[in-house]
Amino acid sequence: MTPFAPALLGFVLGAGIGALVVWLLVRRAARQVRGQIINRHHLGEILGPLGAAVVVLSESDFVLATSTFARRLGIVRGSAIVGTELQHLLAEARRTGQVARAEIRIAGPAEEPVVLAVRVLVLSNQAAVLIGEDRSHDLRFTETRRDFVANITHELKTPIGAIGLLAEAAEAAADDPDAVRSFLGKLTREADRLNELVSQIIALSRLQAVDPLLDAQLVDVAGLLSAASTRCAHQAEAGQVSLSVQAEPGLVISGDPGELETAVTNLAQNAVAYSEPGAKVALTSGRGADGMIEIRVSDNGIGISEADQKRIFERFFRVDADRSRATGGTGLGLSIVKHVAAAHGGEVTVWSRVGQGSTFTLRLPDGSEGGTR
Ligand code: ADP
Repeated sequence: MTPFAPALLGFVLGAGIGALVVWLLVRRAARQVRGQIINRHHLGEILGPLGAAVVVLSESDFVLATSTFARRLGIVRGSAIVGTELQHLLAEARRTGQVARAEIRIAGPAEEPVVLAVRVLVLSNQAAVLIGEDRSHDLRFTETRRDFVANITHELKTPIGAIGLLAEAAEAAADDPDAVRSFLGKLTREADRLNELVSQIIALSRLQAVDPLLDAQLVDVAGLLSAASTRCAHQAEAGQVSLSVQAEPGLVISGDPGELETAVTNLAQNAVAYSEPGAKVALTSGRGADGMIEIRVSDNGIGISEADQKRIFERFFRVDADRSRATGGTGLGLSIVKHVAAAHGGEVTVWSRVGQGSTFTLRLPDGSEGGTR
């Protein structure tokens, strides 16, 4: 044995033990890592809060983990995917080895069905992942825009057509001054209607384009109510409706004074328009239990049924189109109010009973808290 032999043996043994220790450590670490990634509990924790519907399935389509949204939608029950369309999509992804895609309508927990853009992909270990993104909002937006354009076309065509016909009729009746005067009176009313409609359409598109809080001012709520009441005074007098204002002094809102005045005026004009002679309309303001500023416009007029209350904030929706037209309505007033409220960080709510009256409440953040934002 050479003098180096013990040292060599020691070296080999040491290296061997070292390698064994490193191997054991690596194996432990690998097990820990594997445990952390594959553990269903942790996977569930990761997926849980995701906004999309995500489902991870085993090789045999057993649900391993899901996002909360997927469970809420009801596309997973127990350990299985529910719904033939989703099951077919999963089968297609397994058969083709490609990502399978489809847009699927799901009844969901809400009234409106949820439209999911679904992708299913199969991983190299044959596990599968289903990802469903909620497209309902985008779709509703597109539908609303399409309806809006169709409605605008219809609403504009009516007074434009009438103006043309009335002008022709006035010309044809040139020898009869009374008839000409009557036609011209009607023509003026249609022109006013057209003017109001165009102004409201412009107001709505402006509301969508500009954020009123970017150049916000402090607006005195009492001043707002009295300005709206002044703008309705003539209409109220003509309709024999009494108008009162009771404002808590010192309240301020941060925002666009013009938009806020338009919103309160629209509510007050409606309250007068949808009330019978002798009715009472009250504009009041105060602070809600949660500190929000509340502007209430109440009437004891015709009221709105529960079914219609759900639709009155839609553009061009009217319970009674003839009555709305007769009072100069365009069907856009409440959608403008809703936009103004939302753009100012607030909301508009309605309480109403048919035959008893209505109260519309604009709830807006207190401007004195943050000053102009
Ligand atoms: P319009 O220009 O027709 O008044 P709005 O958007 O302001 O349009 O209102 C939509 C519909 O809601 C109205 O046509 C009317 O049927 C109903 N409505 C609004 N305010 C009242 C109210 N205070 N009382 C009863 N019905 C109302």
